[in-house]
Amino acid sequence: MIPGMTKTEETDESQASILCRSCGLCCSGHLFSWAKLRSNELTSARGLGLNVFGSEPSQRGFSQPCPLWKGECTVYTSPHYPHACGTYKCKLLKEVLDETIPLPNALIVIKQTKEIIAELEMFLPVSPNISFRERLVAHIEYLEDTAKQENADVDFQQRANELLTYYKNFFGVKDLVDKFGER
Ligand code: SF4
Repeated sequence: MIPGMTKTEETDESQASILCRSCGLCCSGHLFSWAKLRSNELTSARGLGLNVFGSEPSQRGFSQPCPLWKGECTVYTSPHYPHACGTYKCKLLKEVLDETIPLPNALIVIKQTKEIIAELEMFLPVSPNISFRERLVAHIEYLEDTAKQENADVDFQQRANELLTYYKNFFGVKDLVDKFGER
């Protein structure tokens, strides 16, 4: 048992660790394009190597994908670990922790979500932008603006709608402007 932790807390920690390591979508630029920082975190966040931006309180954060995500967070134990990272729990994680959904089922949801993302990647134009979410939004807006309705676009839109439904129903990310850290 981990010192200072109850058995329940230890089980929760273990389940969260398994789920988050198999996912990473909240760090990899798939669910969010940026995460919020507190004003007193800007300097330390730069020191960690995060891409910090913004002087306005409502637009102060670091961009995603996070350069510190390497299959797991590489600064998880740092004293400068961002507050938003430490407090954020997606809907899926909350539901695993309150036993609304069994961990194996949640892992299947993550696998399915990543499969949809991989399919969508094939539709997205080549871009220097490394944020999947921003590229997805840009392409959706492009198709809406140009009112293109080619077959490939219909397939893309169906898969994009499927992904956004997964984001909303399983991860609690309701629309294209949801921001990591604003909960
Ligand atoms: S600092 Fe860690 S938890 Fe926060 S976004 Fe980067 S990889 Fe994810």
